[in-house]
Amino acid sequence: MNPGLRITMKRIDIHPRLRDLAAVFTGSGKQVYLVGGAVRDLFLGKKAQDWDLATDAKPEEVIAMFRNRKPRCRVIPTGIKHGTVTVFFKGEEIEVTTFRTESDYRDGRHPEKVEFVPGIEEDLSRRDFTMNAIALKLPKGEIVDPFGGERDIRARLIRCVGNPAERFGEDGLRPLRAIRFASQLGFSIDEASLAAIPGALAICSAVAMERIRDEIDKTLMHGKKPSVSFLLMEKTGLLELILPELAGCRGIEQKGYHRFDVLDHSLLALDYAAANGFPHRVRLAALFHDLGKPLTRNMGKDGVWTFYRHEEESSRLTEKILTRLRYPNTIIEETAHLVAEHMFHYDDTWTDAAVRRFIVRAGETYLEDLFRLRMADSFGMTGIAAPAMALTPLLSRVDAVLAAGRAFSLKDLAVKGKDLMEAGIPAGKHMGIILNELLETVLDDPQCNTRETLLDIALKINRRYEG
Ligand code: ATP
Ligand code: MG
Repeated sequence: MNPGLRITMKRIDIHPRLRDLAAVFTGSGKQVYLVGGAVRDLFLGKKAQDWDLATDAKPEEVIAMFRNRKPRCRVIPTGIKHGTVTVFFKGEEIEVTTFRTESDYRDGRHPEKVEFVPGIEEDLSRRDFTMNAIALKLPKGEIVDPFGGERDIRARLIRCVGNPAERFGEDGLRPLRAIRFASQLGFSIDEASLAAIPGALAICSAVAMERIRDEIDKTLMHGKKPSVSFLLMEKTGLLELILPELAGCRGIEQKGYHRFDVLDHSLLALDYAAANGFPHRVRLAALFHDLGKPLTRNMGKDGVWTFYRHEEESSRLTEKILTRLRYPNTIIEETAHLVAEHMFHYDDTWTDAAVRRFIVRAGETYLEDLFRLRMADSFGMTGIAAPAMALTPLLSRVDAVLAAGRAFSLKDLAVKGKDLMEAGIPAGKHMGIILNELLETVLDDPQCNTRETLLDIALKINRRYEG
């Protein structure tokens, strides 16, 4: 063991399964430590998400240790270049990485060289923040904390290990991680670490879009107040770098309707969506729903800003941003759709046909999320939770119309293209037009949705084209 190693005698309770796993290492004369987020979470009194272990055993030795024992364990060399293997042990999936350092981050993203080192302290020194650089020696759980991580966790501080400018300069993802942890954990970023972020922006711009996307997703999905992170991004220049469209919403005042400018309004809407556990696509839509406002803004005659059809522009920008960040197509389409449809205005003069048209336009599978988005949007106007009552009349109308099981799309019509052809209407472009007219008819009056009535109407429309 490294003679300079500082181990506190205080211990943390270790899960029995981890102790069993550690016995496999110690039985082979090897050291093993619990490291990373799991240790941080234990100090915070939270249940660890997943277990990462660090060891002096080389990857091949770890593989041999677990494959040769009885009963045999599955081991997969998941990141062998970086010294990582995944062990499947008693129903757990555990990442085991050989003590290592990294050096020469030439592109600010991937270390050029990964070197195995003999001791845990050197391994901890390559880690990003002091709270993430604590190890628990297994099986007993003695604490190894060379950078004061426990103290910082107690002070709820995110602090770089070593010199912040150097550490951010090595890996442009670290500033984003620091900022993401701020809202995820409700921690502050240490002053010197925060001050080093603006100087690291060039290196941040080299980070792969997928990794930026993953950080944005973690910011959206973890923690009750993601706005904290987006405001820190704004303050440090990261927002302008990765989401310039959102940064451009600062200072776009919208008096008349709102208390806040478009950026603060969007962040409040997002916080509401996060605090209420709304799904991922609603959180993205809450953040992006008004992106089109800077481009569509006009001063009205009465001195009040207007933003006509901003939802279309917002939807287009949402698609552009999510494509740039390499989101999967389904997420791009669904979020852009929610944004495009967020401006519905219900009043009690709506006929049942109008309610049916609204449902067709929104899509039945989006209704709930569209209402959630509206609640978030309303909250963002005042910062005060409005009673959900505002939506109640529309909700009950929608429920009633849906409960009546009325036709809502072409596939629900009582006739199909095939029936029309059998009735003598030729296939071709008129067929599509006729089917859509039939749908319009049924939306207006669901009682028309019978084979007989629709065929009759279809033949009449067809005569228009023949004549
Ligand atoms: P979470 O899983 O909640 O994102 P985590 O701290 O476990 O948090 P991981 O990405 O799982 O984060 O990484 C595990 C550990 O690896 C971290 O705790 C940290 O010690 C180290 N680490 C991860 N990414 C970096 C990085 N970019 N630079 C330096 N160390 C890192
Ligand atoms: Mg983790």
